[in-house]
Amino acid sequence: MKTILITGASRGIGKAIALKFASGNKVILTGRDKSKLDETASLVVKNGGEAIVIEADLSVPQNVIALTKNENLPQLDLLINNAGIALVGSLDEITLEDWQKTFDVNVTAPFLLIQKLSSKMPKGSSIVNIASVASKSGFPNWSTYCMSKFALDGFTKSIREELREKDIRVLNIYPGAVATDIWNGVPGEQDLSAMMQPTSVAEIIFTAVAQPTGTVIEDITMRNLHDF
Ligand code: NAP
Repeated sequence: MKTILITGASRGIGKAIALKFASGNKVILTGRDKSKLDETASLVVKNGGEAIVIEADLSVPQNVIALTKNENLPQLDLLINNAGIALVGSLDEITLEDWQKTFDVNVTAPFLLIQKLSSKMPKGSSIVNIASVASKSGFPNWSTYCMSKFALDGFTKSIREELREKDIRVLNIYPGAVATDIWNGVPGEQDLSAMMQPTSVAEIIFTAVAQPTGTVIEDITMRNLHDF
């Protein structure tokens, strides 16, 4: 049985990852929405796993630190930094509050979780960060999100090198558009039917982590065939 912490497990990609990894594993689910986390937890149990729900608002660094010290948090074999927000708007529309909140959820939370938890992770364990194609290219009106995903990418690539000597693998996933609630807050019409499914992201992570522990699939970019 492996112990896995997934941030942002209440819905979307994080929920799909939780269900994919459920069978035979202990899955710790975090997020703010307790009822949705409980729903994910019941599905994890139905799929043959154990689930622990820990509510945490990761936009507050002190909450992230508190999560790392939570007495219900066991030693991890796999940490999946998935929680993320997309606050989309033009340069004139970006507020300092949105800028800082995006950085705190998308970058500071993964940083603190990795810093505080990796020292307790055993050899052969893995850390997966959900980056984005927005870690590699800029898009108009997405500058705050791109700023955070570029930062996450640079951080990940550096600590990947540091953690090699501890036999901890660090993987970065770069999805294109995936049909989730994240698009609800994005201005304009979005065709979710043209996007990839969260289950596809979960499948690829499952396959990557299942490789022998001496193999790290470092960076995975996945896009809709028609590049939506
Ligand atoms: P989603 O459906 O909106 O889910 C986001 C998750 O993050 C939720 O479980 C949410 O949980 C959690 N979260 C948000 N703010 C939080 C906070 N302050 N504290 C704790 N948890 C918080 O989005 P998604 O598409 O699944 O996104 C998952 C990851 O994939 C993100 O990092 C996103 O940037 C990345 N990504 C998404 C796409 C896409 O097109 N969907 C593409 C590339 C990368 P609560 O609401 O319960 O707090």
